[in-house]
Amino acid sequence: MTDQSTHKLWQFHGGLHPEPHKELSAGRASHDIPLPKKLIIPLQQHIGASAEPVVAVGDKVFKGQPVANPDGYVSAGMHAPTSGTVTEIAEHPLPHPSGLSGLCIVIEPDGEDTWWPDLPEAISNYLEANPADIRQRVREAGIVGLGGAAFPTSVKLNPPATQPVDTLIINAAECEPYITCDDRLMRERPGEIIEGIEIIQHALGIDRVMIGVEDNKPDAIRSLKHKIEELGTSQIEVITVPTIYPTGGEKQLIQILTGKEVPSHGLPSDIGVVCHNVGTAAAVYRAVAHGEPLISRIMTVTGSGVKQPQNLKVLIGTPISHLIEQAEGYTDDAERLIMGGPMMGFAMSSDAIPVIKGTNCILVARADEIEQPGTPMPCIRCGRCTAVCPASLLPQEMYWHARARNFDRIQDFNLFDCIECGCCAAVCPSHIPLVQYYRFAKTEIWSQEQEKKKADHARQRHEFRLERIERDKREKAEKLAQKKAALARKTAAKEGSGDDSKKKAIQEALERAKAKKAQSQKKPANTENLSEAQQRQIDEAEERRKADKTEQAPTEE
Ligand code: SF4
Ligand code: SF4
Repeated sequence: MTDQSTHKLWQFHGGLHPEPHKELSAGRASHDIPLPKKLIIPLQQHIGASAEPVVAVGDKVFKGQPVANPDGYVSAGMHAPTSGTVTEIAEHPLPHPSGLSGLCIVIEPDGEDTWWPDLPEAISNYLEANPADIRQRVREAGIVGLGGAAFPTSVKLNPPATQPVDTLIINAAECEPYITCDDRLMRERPGEIIEGIEIIQHALGIDRVMIGVEDNKPDAIRSLKHKIEELGTSQIEVITVPTIYPTGGEKQLIQILTGKEVPSHGLPSDIGVVCHNVGTAAAVYRAVAHGEPLISRIMTVTGSGVKQPQNLKVLIGTPISHLIEQAEGYTDDAERLIMGGPMMGFAMSSDAIPVIKGTNCILVARADEIEQPGTPMPCIRCGRCTAVCPASLLPQEMYWHARARNFDRIQDFNLFDCIECGCCAAVCPSHIPLVQYYRFAKTEIWSQEQEKKKADHARQRHEFRLERIERDKREKAEKLAQKKAALARKTAAKEGSGDDSKKKAIQEALERAKAKKAQSQKKPANTENLSEAQQRQIDEAEERRKADKTEQAPTEE
């Protein structure tokens, strides 16, 4: 084991020390809650293609039964979080900054909470299992990154062969203020986390594992270290890192622990690293060792706007209103409802929206608790945003180009390296909602790319169609020519065979005549083996016969 005192740490650029507010919920152990009246399961909860429903309205489903299958390699399936009836497959508002709606499967629980009898069997000897089987199990379980990004985990367990990875980093930093669900998970279920890490390690064939935990979670650090000692898994290091926001950013944590920087537009695998969230490791363990799909998670419901902040074991699809009830309801001065933390979360207009796999926190804040965005003022080019940017970007320049809708130019400033951490907006004296500008620019660029892809696709289809018509024409002409040629050959053959038969008949007639003639001149039978004397006798008799015949014949005279 290694800790902060023995492991060299590096620093990333910028960062902030916001008020942590973790004390509100950190002492509250996670616990189960009653079933909600309905569960709303969006088909798009992850990066990649939406899942495809495999149930219909009116179907009875069991807990853990697949209700939507992944549609493609980068996609994730959904499972019924409890037993019940599918009552609706329709559009519902999604938990997303855009506030847009999307297709959801709605399940009305029957209260029985009956597990699906066809759950996949546990892989008990998982450290000897084929890595491909582990990846398949993780895919079947619909596991995505639980740190918020929600990238399908099975894909991350299968890095390209051209980019060998040698380091696994488990992100347990939980740097965002207020959120304590990972802290609780590490304290309460360290065994699931460590065994999940071993499974991931085995699937990736990696020896070196580092768990990065911020130093404001001493109990979690102790709990993990104790479990590692107990299990004797010496390859896993728990490394305490300083509390600074956003240490939990994937690229930032990698830099702190390894000193390596993920290249611009690149991925951790480009530098031989794979990073998974600590909650994801526990979900992998449950899927592999127990056959359970991802149907629930621990999340924090906190803020001064709820009466009793909590950590709850929540079924995916539970409406936020149900979670607020478990936290004993809103306070009178509750003002803002945020999904996620105060830095990276987004405001929601309704508590009817469901939680999804990537939801780690619901924050209900009083008016004075989180600084309200003031009226935006012109940029004064103070440079504070640049000083705090952990991705070493130029937020002010990106802002100008986003504002001017200069989407080509903004990409020259590495817009897509922005992790939307909110540090720049938090320090901007002009109250410019910088992150909103970056999200807007990213969305516009993506939708322009989508439009371009669609147009390219339509053009390709049109070209294929023209090509197909031409090919059909060509093939028809070729077939016709072939038919004609065959017919001509047949006719010629027919004509040719007529001449031949005539010739043959003549030839046969000639041969018959010849044979007849030969027959008439033939010697009497059985003459072949006669002796000379016998032959002379015969000849003489013949001549006599001829002479007699001549004498008897009347003369012409
Ligand atoms: S912090 Fe705000 S005012 Fe200062 S340079 Fe950045 S955008 Fe402009
Ligand atoms: S939101 Fe983006 S630009 Fe602003 S500080 Fe964070 S990474 Fe930098």
